[in-house]
Amino acid sequence: MRKKILITGGAGFVGSHLCRRLLNEGNDIICLDNFFTGDKSNIIDMLENPYFELVRHDVQEPILLEVDEIYNLACPASPPYYQFDPVATTKTSVMGAINMLSIAQRCKAKILQASTSEVYGDPEIHPQPESYRGSVSTTGIRACYDEGKRCAETLFFDFHRQHDVKIKVIRIFNTYGPAMNPNDGRVVSNFIVQALKGEDITMYGDGTQTRSFQYVDDLIEGMIKLMNSPDEFTGPVNIGNPNEFTMLELAEKVIELTGSDSKIIFQPLPQDDPLQRQPIIDLAKKELDWEPTIQLEEGLKKTIDYFKSII
Ligand code: NAD
Ligand code: UDP
Repeated sequence: MRKKILITGGAGFVGSHLCRRLLNEGNDIICLDNFFTGDKSNIIDMLENPYFELVRHDVQEPILLEVDEIYNLACPASPPYYQFDPVATTKTSVMGAINMLSIAQRCKAKILQASTSEVYGDPEIHPQPESYRGSVSTTGIRACYDEGKRCAETLFFDFHRQHDVKIKVIRIFNTYGPAMNPNDGRVVSNFIVQALKGEDITMYGDGTQTRSFQYVDDLIEGMIKLMNSPDEFTGPVNIGNPNEFTMLELAEKVIELTGSDSKIIFQPLPQDDPLQRQPIIDLAKKELDWEPTIQLEEGLKKTIDYFKSII
């Protein structure tokens, strides 16, 4: 059956992949975006399809729409962009959650929140299970994003308990792939673009901090499996690739795969930058029968090919 699906942040990196996959599966897609970090080039191939509608709108403001499902992705995800207007970032997460949950309540639609591993902050427990409550600064420069996302999770669970809204909360760990903005500022796109242009690779700190990188196709599969899971399963559920790398290992891998002669230069580590991050994905394996299938080298090759084609 053709479902009417609203995807907020649909012109962004993850959102555009989700729009394409759900459109190709025969659904009716409303892509809502204010184009703060998203771009029409990410969705240009879908614009002519009558089952794809584009709405320019800011989720901080209410909107009336009739839908069966909502994927709420609208929010800048890269530190330089979410720190550019931190008040707007918190409002986007909090007001955006209220406005989208209100649509879900009125339409009896199912709604999925794109939450984040950032709710764990700079974790004292490693790796991180969903039961870990996090170590987040309320006053630091990442708090606008982290606390906004934490409050959004709270709103989801309160709308669920108070108004019976069917919710799904996914905690996404660092994801990369084609359609990332070359100026996005996140580490994978920065390193690849710098390597391809023969520029210095900007390492923040000494490069021993770790992240666990997931290829975007694995994330999209996890999101759709979560949306289609039984109503009783709300999450929060970690979706990420447990293979953990230091930023130095990532830089070396990018240099090797691009054949670049770029040199690594060291710059100060930004405030509150988490030292380590790795998901425990036992819950996703058990409840969703999901696990990542694309490992770093394969995913980086696909991403490098994408950036070669656009720069
Ligand atoms: P992105 O910046 O590429 O996409 C975000 C999209 O939301 C953009 O198209 C942007 O224009 C839009 N947007 C921002 N503010 C908006 C507003 N107020 N109203 C309407 N649209 C707005 O980032 P992404 O990597 O695709 O992330 C998508 C979602 O997934 C975000 O909610 C992010 O927090 C979450 N997430 C992503 C990652 C990751 O590694 N990519 C990790 C954890 C969580
Ligand atoms: N980073 C880096 N060089 C860059 C961009 C990021 O060394 O050009 C580091 C950053 O300080 C962090 C890690 O890479 O330790 C991941 O950063 P990103 O912004 O991609 O994601 P997040 O910190 O939100 O996980």
